[in-house]
Amino acid sequence: ETDNNAPYLQGLNPPQREAVLTSEGPVLVLAGAGTGKTAALTARLAHLLWTRRAFPSEILAVTFTNKAAREMKERVGRLVGAAVEGMPWLGTFHAIGAKMLRRHAELVGLQSNFTILDTDDQLRLIKQLILAADLDEKRWPARQLAGLIDEWKNKGLTPAEIGAGESERYANGRGAALYFLYQERLKALNACDFGDLLLHMLVILKTHRDVLESYQQRFRYILVDEYQDTNAVQYLWLRLLAQERKNICCVGDDDQSIYSWRGALVENILKFEKDFPGAKVIKLEQNYRSTPHILAAASGVIANNSGRLGKTLWTDKDEGEKVKVLGVWDGPEEARRVGEEMEGLNRGGKSFDDMAILVRAQHQTREFEERFIAIGLPHRILGGQRFYERMEIRDAVAYLRVIAQPADDLAFERIVNTPKRGLGDKALAKVHQYARAAQVPLTVAAARILDTDELTPQARRALGNLVGDMARWRSMGNDLQHPDLARIVLDESGYTAMWQADRTAEAAGRLENLNELVRAMEEYETLGAFLEHVSLVMDNETNADEPKVTIMTIHAAKGLEFDTVFLVGWEEGIFPSQRALDEGGQASLEEERRLAYVAITRARRKAFILHAANRRIYGQWNSSIPSRFVAELPEAHIESESTMTGGASLWQANWSERSDPFADVSRGTGRGPGWQRAAGVDMKNPGGGFTSRTFSREPARVVESRASAVSFGAKA
Ligand code: ATP
Ligand code: MG
Repeated sequence: ETDNNAPYLQGLNPPQREAVLTSEGPVLVLAGAGTGKTAALTARLAHLLWTRRAFPSEILAVTFTNKAAREMKERVGRLVGAAVEGMPWLGTFHAIGAKMLRRHAELVGLQSNFTILDTDDQLRLIKQLILAADLDEKRWPARQLAGLIDEWKNKGLTPAEIGAGESERYANGRGAALYFLYQERLKALNACDFGDLLLHMLVILKTHRDVLESYQQRFRYILVDEYQDTNAVQYLWLRLLAQERKNICCVGDDDQSIYSWRGALVENILKFEKDFPGAKVIKLEQNYRSTPHILAAASGVIANNSGRLGKTLWTDKDEGEKVKVLGVWDGPEEARRVGEEMEGLNRGGKSFDDMAILVRAQHQTREFEERFIAIGLPHRILGGQRFYERMEIRDAVAYLRVIAQPADDLAFERIVNTPKRGLGDKALAKVHQYARAAQVPLTVAAARILDTDELTPQARRALGNLVGDMARWRSMGNDLQHPDLARIVLDESGYTAMWQADRTAEAAGRLENLNELVRAMEEYETLGAFLEHVSLVMDNETNADEPKVTIMTIHAAKGLEFDTVFLVGWEEGIFPSQRALDEGGQASLEEERRLAYVAITRARRKAFILHAANRRIYGQWNSSIPSRFVAELPEAHIESESTMTGGASLWQANWSERSDPFADVSRGTGRGPGWQRAAGVDMKNPGGGFTSRTFSREPARVVESRASAVSFGAKA
């Protein structure tokens, strides 16, 4: 009954066809990057519709991002045409969860028009609860509880299911009780948070047989992409929904599990065969994406991980070019070099759309954004905001704006109660009234209103402190370098501390962004020049239709592919990240290595890997060590080049061992205990011992470097 001419089968290899045509029973496709897992899953969806095995509304198809969902919908539409009228249950877990929950909201005490709170609202609510519970928020930060609640929800645990040990993790055992109160508050507000979208539905499926059965009947087929990154609650969902018909097809790659920090459990792959006995496991081994050199480079790196399921990968593509490993002098040169390469490729006929820069951490995008704005290279930041649009950057810049320009009311409003300093809406309204009446800026009104009895004593004290701080910071600006002033302002205002107390996954990234901001300031003569730069950058409109290079994190690049990929900042302490190194465990290092594997395998034809010899950290130049992952790249598949002898303009065709100061480490012979030490954090030895001896050119700004006594951005 198989129609071999069906459009969706064309070009598929035998195991892919098997994954498509084995429509009944559990199927697990376990295969490496670029082997056509997503392609096969999409064809399978087309097959189910084409052969009328199910109506579009009878298929549950889960993708990892909304973008992936759109793409799958489009592909299927093209393959089978009109047969796909809407696919109500094609989307991310969260999108599907929200849709289901709206239909059954009353079963968990909500109305179907419930609001979905964002993290800000969530936090405000938790703060109120902490206050009401008479807890000291300094000792027990709201963000810590928020992170914990998220974690529990990811694990599929309701408040009643939180054991004493878990509860102990917050406020001497009060964690579970506060989680309970939080859920009650949400209910009273007819609201839920993101975690609830999945958890509430899980509870409903577990406790209402009729609902469970109706979905088990409805979903004739279940399809899941990126299965290696499902967390416990998602896994429990799938198991319940598929248990009746058992027509579930999951595709994934254990080597690409990169979300364990969000509760993903790669073990779910192993459990699949236990939960669904007789599951057909299909392996795809032909890679259609990348050249042999790229594949070999990626395989060489991931081979250093233990406990892999192990897979074969091959390709019949032309050899292509070796992976290019570029050692550059410093961050600015890295950005310059990447820009040059991109423009060169573009002149050679390649579209900017086919090029991407993949970074380990969001803050790394800043240097590239600024360089590309300067040279007019069209670019987009995917899966994240532009650097200067990020919340913490806007906040920090607002502080600086008020200092530089006391009449900047908008900036004042932004920071007057951030971090929270007990200035309520009422007090702020008074300041506004005063400002309007006296026709003065808010900062002036704030200072003058202190002499009146308009404010409550508490608000007066808080506002008085802020006004006093601002005056002090302003006068400090005369003697201090502006980056130092910025550090002091962020420290003394409590803004840095606010994020240090934060226990959520994003907090560390925000602190890194703040550091990056100060680093950026060092490139400008004055605070005014810097602020002007920021407003110009913010104004940088780009044309929607024009081809653009993409800048994104490796995490966001999962499942995507580009002709040419630039992997930047491959240095110890950046990638692998400092956090992974500090934790020191094998597990976090192996997750970093999986990230490296994901990163390299995004490339179709060309991959560049860059590492800089110097990075500026906390206002000082520090020498960095190339990432251990550079050393793990198999020699036969890479071509190394370094700009580190004879200045930036002198290129060496090949990175000879003798002239390369990093030869010992970059070739992997430097793996001693010292190897574990992250680069770039050696505050006592800025520039490294060999810098001046080995290189003919000092970093231009080394002379300005100064130690900072302020513990800006240090981990709490
Ligand atoms: P990842 O692990 O990165 O998610 P994947 O296994 O999902 O990768 P796909 O994205 O589905 O791989 O496919 C990789 C590339 O190979 C795509 O460009 C796709 O169009 C192409 N491709 C997949 N299957 C075939 C095939 N049978 N013949 C030719 N090209 C194919
Ligand atoms: Mg895929």
